[in-house]
Amino acid sequence: MQYRLLGQLKGPRGYAFCEINAPVPAGTGQEWAGPARGIIELEKSEEVYTAHGWLESTVVMPCSRCLLPHQVPLHVEVDERVVLEQIDEPASFREGEADEPIPILNSDALDLSELVRQVVILAVPTRSLCQPECRGLCPHCGVDLNRRTCACAEQQVDPRLEVLRKLL
Ligand SMILES: [Zn+2]
Ligand SMILES: [Zn+2]
Repeated sequence: MQYRLLGQLKGPRGYAFCEINAPVPAGTGQEWAGPARGIIELEKSEEVYTAHGWLESTVVMPCSRCLLPHQVPLHVEVDERVVLEQIDEPASFREGEADEPIPILNSDALDLSELVRQVVILAVPTRSLCQPECRGLCPHCGVDLNRRTCACAEQQVDPRLEVLRKLL
């Protein structure tokens, strides 16, 4: 994700417009079903650099109930502080550094891969369902209740019903 636009950021008031359409950078710990796409505008004001815009991509996640891998579209607004410092190679994301400005320099070119990586990592939800009505796995026998039924529920007689049954 390199851009030969560094000169545009060097003046007293810098500005650079970057269109993103490239594979999600490595090191997110996630599987991606599509590229990262979006728009990032870099601005310099009073020696402070900011990145604004949006990014979208599609992550592949296991369903929180039945474990089925499924695609989750992400759309994130970008509003980050950045700094003209060399990105790590290979990049490493350390939690707790989220407040630090993100480096965007690679040799003498702008490189937005570290910015994109950090933004999309934070956009991945912790839980996702393959479908809103996912029935999950049976806690007793492990059958996928979206595809099959099992007899476990019938065998688990509610003790309150058992009392009723005796009375009758
Ligand atoms: Zn599911
Ligand atoms: Zn079962």
